[in-house]
Amino acid sequence: MAGSLFIVAAPSGAGKTTLVRGLLSRDAAVRLSVSYTTRAPRDGEVNGVAYNFTDATDFQARRDRGEFLEWAEVHGNFYATSRQWLEDQLAGGHDVLLEIDCQGAEQVRQIFPQAVSIFILPPSFEVLEKRLRGRGTDSEEVIALRLTGARDEMRQVDRFDYVIINNDLQVALDELSTVVRAARLRTPLMRLRNPASFLPAV
Ligand code: 5GP
Repeated sequence: MAGSLFIVAAPSGAGKTTLVRGLLSRDAAVRLSVSYTTRAPRDGEVNGVAYNFTDATDFQARRDRGEFLEWAEVHGNFYATSRQWLEDQLAGGHDVLLEIDCQGAEQVRQIFPQAVSIFILPPSFEVLEKRLRGRGTDSEEVIALRLTGARDEMRQVDRFDYVIINNDLQVALDELSTVVRAARLRTPLMRLRNPASFLPAV
C-alpha cells in the first residue's frame, strides 16, 4: 500500500463534513472516497459527488458481489465504501480519506490495520445538542435519534488513533492537516517512497 488511508468519524453535528472539505481544499493530495448510499439526496447533493445514490436492490446486489470494502446501516439507511476504487487509489500511491461511521471504521481497521483513524469531537455534548437543534431543519424525533446515535458513536472514541476537538474551526483544521502530514512521514512509507535515502535492508 503506497498511499495512506485516513478514516474520519464523528457524531452527527461535530462538523466533520466542514472539516473534511477544508482539508481537501488545502491538501490536493488527499482524495475523498465517494460512498454508496440508499439515503435520498439532500438539497444540493449531486449524484457521484456527495454520494453514489442507489436503491436497496442495487445496494444488496453490489454487496453480494463483494464490491464493498465495508458497509453499515446508519439511521435506517445503508452506506458502503467501494472496494475497487479504494484499492486502485492506494496502489497508485494516492492518499485516501474515508468519511464513515464507527461501524465502518472498525471493519476498515480489520482490513487495513495501518489506516490512520481520526475522531472529531464537539467541545461538549451540550454544544452538540445545540448545534443539532440550531439547524432548524430536523423534527424533534430526528434530533432525538441523532443524539442517541451521537452518544453511541462518542463511546467508540478510544478505538481511534487521534482526536480533534472541533471548537475553533481553523484550529481543528490545522490539527487535521498536522495528522495527515505526520502520517506521511511514517517510516515504512518513507522507505517505500524514498529508497535512495535508506540503506538497503540487511
Ligand atoms: P449522512 O447521511 O448524514 O451523510 O451520513 C450519515 C452517517 O453515515 C455519517 O456518520 C457518515 O460518516 C456515515 N457514512 C457515510 N458514508 C459511509 C460509508 O461508506 N460507510 C459507512 N460505514 N458509513 C458512512
